[in-house]
Amino acid sequence: MAAKKQGVKMGCSQCGICCTKGGPALHSVDLELLKKGTWPLDHLITIRKGELVHKPFSEEVSPSSTELVKLKGKKGSWSCTYFDEDLKRCTIYEKRPSSCSVLECWNPTATLELIEKDTLIRMDIIAEQDPLRAYVVEYEALCPVPDYMAIRERRLDENGRKQISLLVNTDLRIRNGIAAKFKLSVDQEMFYFGRPVFQLLAPLGVQSRQGYQGMTLNWL
Ligand code: SF4
Repeated sequence: MAAKKQGVKMGCSQCGICCTKGGPALHSVDLELLKKGTWPLDHLITIRKGELVHKPFSEEVSPSSTELVKLKGKKGSWSCTYFDEDLKRCTIYEKRPSSCSVLECWNPTATLELIEKDTLIRMDIIAEQDPLRAYVVEYEALCPVPDYMAIRERRLDENGRKQISLLVNTDLRIRNGIAAKFKLSVDQEMFYFGRPVFQLLAPLGVQSRQGYQGMTLNWL
């Protein structure tokens, strides 16, 4: 049981809360375990550079300064895919990523030092012979990450909004085409291409609706 000093947490009480706030980002020291198949690709999710992220121990969001690859959450929640909610335990404890090993919620120093440092990106992980490497490069060129902060703060003019609408539809067209060609599951797609732009707009108050002529956006 965690020691407590005047109501302040001094150790791990195995409450599991840290595992419900989003899966950990992977770092270069995790590459060996990754290459051994410890965490299959469809258990990973890519956060593209520029997507808005919560910094650990903070409610603030800001654009990620680098691409991140994380263990994904369970469907519809931020809980790490390896977290057993009933037993409140990590199901891969001996093989958990490095950032989980250093995490001490009562003493965030080590975690804060790791943020966006020596993190893995997709190209560290995708095998050289995997034909999807070239498609990822092409996708990044054709569908750059938009300025989500400007969208969030409603700093886009009419033309800017049109560009986002175009991007949403281009993004879907390209990733759907590649997913069909390579028979990718949705989970595999989330690793190779990250989340589609329209999904990332929803929490920013921009709703998308599928119509005959593609997605239309509603800026609430
Ligand atoms: S890998 Fe294990 S310790 Fe790390 S967040 Fe997931 S459940 Fe928690």
